[in-house]
Amino acid sequence: MISLKSVAHRYDQQQDIRFEDWQIDAGSQWLLLGASGSGKSTLLHILTGILKPTQGSVSIKGTSIYDLSSKELDQFRGRNIGIVFQRPHLIKSLSISENLVIAQSFAKLPTDLKRVNEVLDALGISHKKNAYPDQLSQGQLQRVSIARAVINKPALLIADEPTSSLDDNNAAVVLDLLMQQSGANQATLLVATHDKRVKDAFKHTYELS
Ligand code: ADP
Ligand code: MG
Repeated sequence: MISLKSVAHRYDQQQDIRFEDWQIDAGSQWLLLGASGSGKSTLLHILTGILKPTQGSVSIKGTSIYDLSSKELDQFRGRNIGIVFQRPHLIKSLSISENLVIAQSFAKLPTDLKRVNEVLDALGISHKKNAYPDQLSQGQLQRVSIARAVINKPALLIADEPTSSLDDNNAAVVLDLLMQQSGANQATLLVATHDKRVKDAFKHTYELS
């Protein structure tokens, strides 16, 4: 479903970061492991179409993503890839449910309030749908981030250190929700972490050195 071939990236004035070839089956769940600075975020940015690698190719669902125009790539990302960042990136002036609606419109999909409610329900935050981001706790905000990432039923769900700013309880809940949501939507799940609390939950691992 996803394949990474001969990929390497070089930031200005730095050494190449090389990534081992990687074949990811549809629906599989992976942990991406590596020390801080080993290139986890770089690789996830490459896989989400945000960062074009200096070498190699990335194909998702048969599409070589860096051969798309930037407009096509934006739309491809909006429809196929859900991203959960280390810290929630929500729009502060919009309510929780409006933040999800706007994710539908960014992907050029029609507004679907039924889907918004369904996702908020599944993540246990429907009582916060009319609240604003600064009225929620860190753990609740991370649930909203997951809700926004899965709203368009992406084939690929990517999370970059989603538990590192959370306490043990919230970290376990967030991880559980990611796995559950990827299962429910048959989405491939990639979670980057250096958080030792997370390691046992996943069958597949890809390790950066
Ligand atoms: P990780 O997510 O595993 O901590 P990163 O992918 O963020 O690692 O970083 C990998 C390496 O690339 C590090 O040495 C980091 O300093 C460098 N790096 C990351 N982003 C940039 C950037 N925008 N410009 C220059 N160097 C960067
Ligand atoms: Mg990182």
